[in-house]
Amino acid sequence: MSLSLIAKSIKPSPTLALNEKFAILKEKGDPVIHLGGGEPKTKVPMEAIMATVSHANTGEVRYAPADGIPALKQAVIRYTEEFYDRKVTPQHIIASGGAKQALMVALMAILNPQEEVIFPAPYWVSYPDMARLIGAIPVPALPEDGTFYPRLKDIEDRVGSYTKAVIINSPNNPTGAMYSEEFISDVVQFCEKKDIWLIMDDIYHRLIFDGRKIINPYKYAKKLDENSKLIIINGVSKQYAMTGFRIGWAVGNKKVIEAMSNIQGHQTSGPSVLLQKAAVGALNGIQSSVESLRVTLENNRNVMIDLLHSFEGVKVTKPDGTFYCFADFSAYNKNSNQLSAFLIDKVQVLTVPGAEFGLEGYLRLSYCGTIKDIQEGIERMKWALDPNSPNELYIGDRKLVRDWS
Ligand code: PMP
Repeated sequence: MSLSLIAKSIKPSPTLALNEKFAILKEKGDPVIHLGGGEPKTKVPMEAIMATVSHANTGEVRYAPADGIPALKQAVIRYTEEFYDRKVTPQHIIASGGAKQALMVALMAILNPQEEVIFPAPYWVSYPDMARLIGAIPVPALPEDGTFYPRLKDIEDRVGSYTKAVIINSPNNPTGAMYSEEFISDVVQFCEKKDIWLIMDDIYHRLIFDGRKIINPYKYAKKLDENSKLIIINGVSKQYAMTGFRIGWAVGNKKVIEAMSNIQGHQTSGPSVLLQKAAVGALNGIQSSVESLRVTLENNRNVMIDLLHSFEGVKVTKPDGTFYCFADFSAYNKNSNQLSAFLIDKVQVLTVPGAEFGLEGYLRLSYCGTIKDIQEGIERMKWALDPNSPNELYIGDRKLVRDWS
């Protein structure tokens, strides 16, 4: 079939594919455990639901402006002041269909075909394909020292005449690593010096552990005028457990936001007004749900890390935030796709192969589910992988028998 070159260069989202697989297995009644998920299981804030319902009740649900409704922009202005200590105006903000669309239209607004965008590896699965969607070139930067914490040199070494932008996601999906204040400050200043766009994907910035404090990239920016090339991406999906609402936003200089709005206006128009109202409800409502989610995730992280530490052969780096842990399973299988498929097949535990994030031999395990799922999921993985484990395992009343070595 004569599909476009771009269509042929794009893979399906592996994490969305895994969600579909989970739904199919669940529907069949299989006792599947999803350790591959990317969404908190807590309830959506009540204010978000009320705001949506009350707007729906007016019976008038119309087009929203391409760049977002004024009430959401006001809420983002307040958010930016609170978390970034920066006063912006509505023209500095665009609301999009999730942080995903905000990122996509930002990349469309700044990158030409063949230009390069650098991001530390392991990286969020969508960055490379987002770049390819516009004919640009993704340039992953795996830290040279073998850790999950890049240094400026890792970025610097990859900058060339085609470099147009850098994306930084901290705390990071899939590793949970929160980059140091020093690194963020270095990158902000470096990008300013080189006149490169810097996109901060801050979608997990409030979900951090062990008393860590949110890092504000603006603190290190010197060019804070309308020529600033710093773009902040954020949204309600993770912090308010509102993944299904699909609302994210970007904050940037007026020109880039205008360009992004023009693109979005032709692409999808503004996000649904109902969902924007929900985001306003969450942003302006009582914030205790965010802290309670953060505390739950920190506790879940501790449980998962303890269990993984007792897993011989598996190497883990303690995540600083998010709800992911990126563990090295190469002692069992260096091919993460094979290993992930084996775990689904044999013990019905879903994990995401490290290869999808740019690092082979690893699996991404999520701790956004229940403690029971974390414990049982890892117990099953151990049983499947440890050659010394007993020959049989019961899942409910199902008996699994090892037919592999
Ligand atoms: N950035 C990162 C790093 C993510 O992990 C995700 C969601 N998995 C997104 C952006 C997109 O979030 P949203 O649901 O708001 O589109």
